[in-house]
Amino acid sequence: MIGVVDAFSDSYALARQKFLRGCLAAGLAVDSRPLPLPGAQGEQLAMDVALDGAADARRLLVVSSACHGVEGHCGSGVQVFALHDAEWRAKARDAGVAVLYIHALNPHGFSHGRRVTQENVDLNRNFIDFGQPLPVNEGYASLHALLLPDQWPPSPTDEQALNGWMAQHGLPAFQAAVSGGQYQFGDGLFFGGQAPTWSNRTLRELLRRYAGQAAHIAWIDLHTGLGPNGHGERIFAGRNDAAELARASAWWSGGGATPVTSMYDGSSTSAELQGLLCHAVYDECPQAQYTGIALEYGTEPLLEVMAALRGDHWLHQHPKAAPELAATLRDRMRRAFYTDTDAWKGQVISQARQAMFQAVDGLRASA
Ligand SMILES: [Zn+2]
Repeated sequence: MIGVVDAFSDSYALARQKFLRGCLAAGLAVDSRPLPLPGAQGEQLAMDVALDGAADARRLLVVSSACHGVEGHCGSGVQVFALHDAEWRAKARDAGVAVLYIHALNPHGFSHGRRVTQENVDLNRNFIDFGQPLPVNEGYASLHALLLPDQWPPSPTDEQALNGWMAQHGLPAFQAAVSGGQYQFGDGLFFGGQAPTWSNRTLRELLRRYAGQAAHIAWIDLHTGLGPNGHGERIFAGRNDAAELARASAWWSGGGATPVTSMYDGSSTSAELQGLLCHAVYDECPQAQYTGIALEYGTEPLLEVMAALRGDHWLHQHPKAAPELAATLRDRMRRAFYTDTDAWKGQVISQARQAMFQAVDGLRASA
């Protein structure tokens, strides 16, 4: 066992060390896909993968972290804890479920404290068909200049205009316009990219390598930044398909957990999104029945998280900003996606562990 608090890390470099050590202690081989760019502390960046179970298992559970870079403080903690958790490992083994840990889907963002990839892309908006015309988000286009003004902090005039937009259209419309994904502003927020990113391509390779033979694939993708502090919302992560949603609800709504929510019917704190990561499973593992959620832990109020993201993107646009301002903006980003308290970490682990046990039960019952 490892202590709950000890499973979490202040930096990507330390998180990666703990993950690699956890795999070693568990006797698991690690498949590392290096990203040839420097980390924030000069460390090597990589997407690291370990399979706990048989390579030809029919039932596979994927547990992934850091789709959104900085959110990896949370997800990595869950993975490291699981690697040291003998009861959990026995549970999966006895059910014939292999567990694929994908550590740091977006290692650059994790290391540099950003939500986006090195391409300034929101990885969870990047899985669209780039052979088709790109979606147009007119709401975002009307807000871009207000979200990212020339000066930081923004002027009272800019903030008034932004508040005016929210008052006129409402907060849900604001959230949808900003966070729904946009494909026109390469330096903007929630940019889905104009081509598959390195993380997208690498994830697809890994799925072909490790999940190509599974008949049933469950996925828990770990996120932070939406909802009440410490609450893990189980957000259905699949296409708009009633049977798939029903299966996810049956697996993950019991045991005192709050019901699985869906962005398709307005029950989730998330706006409806395009280009979700789960599309990689449909594309690369068409043989499998897929059932997945994003486990989304609350940190700070929505508008504070948005303000932190605006500051982060502004800083990216203004790399010569005063060092004190840069440090303040980076701190704010980390707080927006990582509540660094023992209580929050305890809530994260207990809810993730429950969801993982439920996934194994769901997979075991699948024919
Ligand atoms: Zn996220």
